[in-house]
Amino acid sequence: MVESGGFPRCVLAVFAHPDDAELACGGALAGWAAAGASVTIVCVCRGDKGAAERVEPGALAALREAEGRAAAAQLGAEWHALGMPDGEIAVDRLRAEVVALVRRRRPDVVVAPDPTVVIVGSSHVNHRDHREVGWAVLDAVGAEAANPNYHPGDDPAFQAAELWLCASSSPDRWVDIGVAVDAKVAALRCHATQLGGGSELGAADPFLRELVVGRAAAEGRAGGVRFGEAFRRIVLVD
Ligand SMILES: [Zn+2]
Repeated sequence: MVESGGFPRCVLAVFAHPDDAELACGGALAGWAAAGASVTIVCVCRGDKGAAERVEPGALAALREAEGRAAAAQLGAEWHALGMPDGEIAVDRLRAEVVALVRRRRPDVVVAPDPTVVIVGSSHVNHRDHREVGWAVLDAVGAEAANPNYHPGDDPAFQAAELWLCASSSPDRWVDIGVAVDAKVAALRCHATQLGGGSELGAADPFLRELVVGRAAAEGRAGGVRFGEAFRRIVLVD
């Protein structure tokens, strides 16, 4: 349990696109990995549509997989890709894949996007892939992985203790990422195809650190930490 030792021992972070986990919770993941946790980033989509202009999807996907692997290494995390095309998530397969990973790795914390966030402020619609991944993780971890009748396989049923949702409109948990800001910046810098306008990352390299620090200060303020990442925490096992 997270509460007893202060850090989780095994973390599964399931996100849609190759830079999503780093951007949403790269500081927390790096901090947990540095404290000895086994951290795995599960990247659902290939990132093959992550460009403002027309691109050859296979070529972009190959670049983005290499970027994702390099970024995960900067955080001290493993990288696990599910290889679905952007915008074409097979939700039933995704739930089965998440259930299988949860049963195999037995994480105490699973991290994912908050799927209830659809419209952000007055100028942003949360990407469909983020919402679909969030819903699939909620269903897989909240109900299915612990029930052997869902997706029967070789590994025994397992209940992850906690779900932590990122980019939530109702955060209730903050992780101090002061010591992990450098790792988060280094990880995001690996996503060279996304450094510039028109991407979810939305920052050119010289401004990346400024962006990360500014976001961490803004997110941390509500939680009383100088630099933080905010989460909505769901405790599934007391
Ligand atoms: Zn994304």
